[in-house]
Amino acid sequence: MKWTIVLFFATTLISSCYSQNNKNKNSNMDNEKKQNPVYSKTDNNKVVLKDEEWKKILSPEVYYIARQKGTERPFTSKFEKFNEHGTYYCAACGNALFKSDTKFESGCGWPSFYEPISKGSVIYLPDNTLGMKRTEVECGRCKAHLGHVFDDGPPPTGLRYCINGVVLDFEKAKEAEKKYNANKQ
Ligand SMILES: [Zn+2]
Repeated sequence: MKWTIVLFFATTLISSCYSQNNKNKNSNMDNEKKQNPVYSKTDNNKVVLKDEEWKKILSPEVYYIARQKGTERPFTSKFEKFNEHGTYYCAACGNALFKSDTKFESGCGWPSFYEPISKGSVIYLPDNTLGMKRTEVECGRCKAHLGHVFDDGPPPTGLRYCINGVVLDFEKAKEAEKKYNANKQ
């Protein structure tokens, strides 16, 4: 009986710490976005800024990938093995890029999708660096470097959009969130 009580308190303590951490994380993320005046999930106008302006409003990690065409280390993205239902946005400007339905496990070490959310959501550029012929994928709104697209993906498109998780923001589907909250109560 005693142990049950101890266990109960321990569990409560752990879960309250956990939710506290989550709260802090979220508020930090909100603050980061408030400092980025071009970030918007509703504004479709193109964003053209100088590199030094981007540097001021992006985190160093996002700036390195988005503006300097960097690549995150493989198997380091929280989105690489991530199956939540929702939408992925450009972390630099908030433009909608991919739906979770088109995400698949490619095993390549980066989040992979077989199709962008709409035709204009991304743009394509030939990339002949590193002695390879590849196609670079950039955000259709702010031209942030996202990753590359290869033709070894699954049906229906046969494409594999290999995307750096650092430049992705994820938002859970509203419907899924509602269901989750209803179950919790
Ligand atoms: Zn963007």
